[in-house]
Amino acid sequence: MSNNTRTALISGASRGIGRAIALRLAEQAGQIAILYAGRADAARETVQLLEEKGVRALALQCDVADAAQVDAAVKKARAQLGPIHMLVNNAGITRDGLALMMKPDDFDRVVRVNLHGAFHLIRACTGDLMRAKPGRIVNITSVSGMMGNAGQANYASAKAGLIGLTKTIARELASRQVTCNAVAPGYIDTDMVRQMDPQTLDSALQSVPLKRLGQAEEVAHAVAYLCSPGAGYVTGSVLQVDGGLYM
Ligand code: NDP
Repeated sequence: MSNNTRTALISGASRGIGRAIALRLAEQAGQIAILYAGRADAARETVQLLEEKGVRALALQCDVADAAQVDAAVKKARAQLGPIHMLVNNAGITRDGLALMMKPDDFDRVVRVNLHGAFHLIRACTGDLMRAKPGRIVNITSVSGMMGNAGQANYASAKAGLIGLTKTIARELASRQVTCNAVAPGYIDTDMVRQMDPQTLDSALQSVPLKRLGQAEEVAHAVAYLCSPGAGYVTGSVLQVDGGLYM
């Protein structure tokens, strides 16, 4: 199958890591649908950047935590761009605070966006992915899901859950030539990290062997590898892009 017949759907690709993934996957997909929460201007900019690379691109506003919105968005993407061959579950949020003080709503919302969102999208795309031969799913988890992180009970739980989801889907869909892997970034230079207290971030970076923030493009390279034909024998894995933070 030539590259431009492949279609990718990436959640949370209006900015940050998701945008970098979309731009990198432009080398493997002729059609790309991106989902975003509310920043229409940023989403339009991603679409424009993709179009400049010769990709047919479409941005859809969709709260991934809402199964009905996800179903509707995937239906629109399929109608305009054709069946989905690659799904990247990247949309994510944080609402940090010590567990003792954390509002139940903040726990709930973070799990719903980061974990339920991926589940809803996998369900909505599985039919297409099973016919894609090969189908690809990449879930963006986090070192927090592997190590735990004080102040992130909600986020770490969601991201750890995403690893369990990744391995389960890998087993369920392996016989249909669908691989499902996770990428676990460490501290990456995006809006999400820029909202951290600079002192906390500085001291966090001290524990990173490579002693710097990662770049969104460095995560995108890992995702592109897992989506590529060369990764056909890789499934159920968690690829860390964390400067050596967790080992
Ligand atoms: P950003 O905050 O920069 O971007 C988040 C993206 O997700 C935006 O496109 C946003 O859309 C979208 N989004 C947020 N909520 C929803 C929702 N409910 N439905 C649909 N889309 C939504 O995040 P990053 O680029 O930093 O993070 C991307 C992924 O990487 C996340 O899953 C994050 O947890 C993970 N990660 C990030 C790390 C980091 O250091 N940055 C480290 C480890 C993991 P909009 O623009 O419209 O708001």
